[in-house]
Amino acid sequence: MRFDTRLIHDRQPPDPLTGAVTVPIYLASTYKQSAPNRNQGYVYSRSGNPTRAMLEGALGALESGVGGLAFSSGLGALETLLGAFPSGSRIVSVDDLYGGTWRLFEHHRRQFGLRVDYLDLTDPRRLAEALRTPADLVYVESPTNPLLRLVDLRAVARLAHASRTRLVVDNTFATPALQRPIELGADIVLHSTTKYLGGHSDLVGGALVLRSRRDLKEFTWLQNALGAVPSPFDCYLALRGLHTLGVRMRAHGESARAVVEVLDRDRRVRRAHYPGLASHPQHRLARRQMSGYGGIVSVDLRGGRRAALAFLRRLRVFTLAESLGAVESLVDHPASMTHASVPRAEREAHGVTEGLVRLSCGIEDPADLADDVRAALRGL
Ligand SMILES: *Cc1c(COP(=O)(O)O)cnc(C)c1O
Repeated sequence: MRFDTRLIHDRQPPDPLTGAVTVPIYLASTYKQSAPNRNQGYVYSRSGNPTRAMLEGALGALESGVGGLAFSSGLGALETLLGAFPSGSRIVSVDDLYGGTWRLFEHHRRQFGLRVDYLDLTDPRRLAEALRTPADLVYVESPTNPLLRLVDLRAVARLAHASRTRLVVDNTFATPALQRPIELGADIVLHSTTKYLGGHSDLVGGALVLRSRRDLKEFTWLQNALGAVPSPFDCYLALRGLHTLGVRMRAHGESARAVVEVLDRDRRVRRAHYPGLASHPQHRLARRQMSGYGGIVSVDLRGGRRAALAFLRRLRVFTLAESLGAVESLVDHPASMTHASVPRAEREAHGVTEGLVRLSCGIEDPADLADDVRAALRGL
């Protein structure tokens, strides 16, 4: 079956007890045992919950893995992932990272002796060089946040495997509707379901999807041991969001296209970043690796911080808020919001300037979004 059909039906049969076509929200924290350790598959809801199991099964299938695991947040998923790496482990990571991911890596570096190298992996040859020293994990976002740079996932997976290292891809920006990293060679996919998968700014959640049964077993153990699990209600919301992911991603893409066309032509703009632009340095890779370009656009305004803040103030449809990937359009000033935890020098070295604004284009009428951006630029 095709992807949009699978979003709604894959691993999501009607409830066998009642025929309910949507999954019941099982609130029970514990389950009756007929004798000690004899049960019907569920023991305690941290270890497993039927509503969560439906979400995990669907995510695992949609990301082409052997299974998925749901967490209370994207960072909960990341913390559980890092729980598998003992002191002295080495991670080679992209340098353009979600701020909270960077903060957690740094925490593990200081507290638990994790070694982390941050590299610009837009050129996979840099990874080949970095892997001359053994590493335990390669960690990648593509497209990256907030600069929408791409990493050639197939090339990076090949290099990681050649040196017996696993590849993790944070697929939050693209979603499985546009890019399926495991099909390109990744071993683990990480999600913040808070963003596009949930899609309505009404839940915080995360997920891991595993390519191998061994990893699924290890991280299932850690999920239960660390306990960063989502509530059954949040699992239900994530599943509900998942059903419309296909149509939403197409609409987000149309909105982003309308917005970036206004930005790209404007003299007050130093640079508009969007993988769908023919001028994006990795546009060809985007066409090969993704089946759409997503809903995030970032723009570097010539006037620096003052221009960025004035632009934000003038927007009427876009709401100034952290987060992204929801039906309503959101706008963020990375330097003072989502990426404020990254020191300024480091931020600027990576291109996250004071004039950078990140737009998460929602599914309102694209013409209204284009008008909004046009009006906000006027008078800068
Ligand atoms: C938001 C986000 C995260 C963190 O997820 P939370 O659900 O906020 O904990 C990780 N990676 C990316 C790319 C994100 O956008």
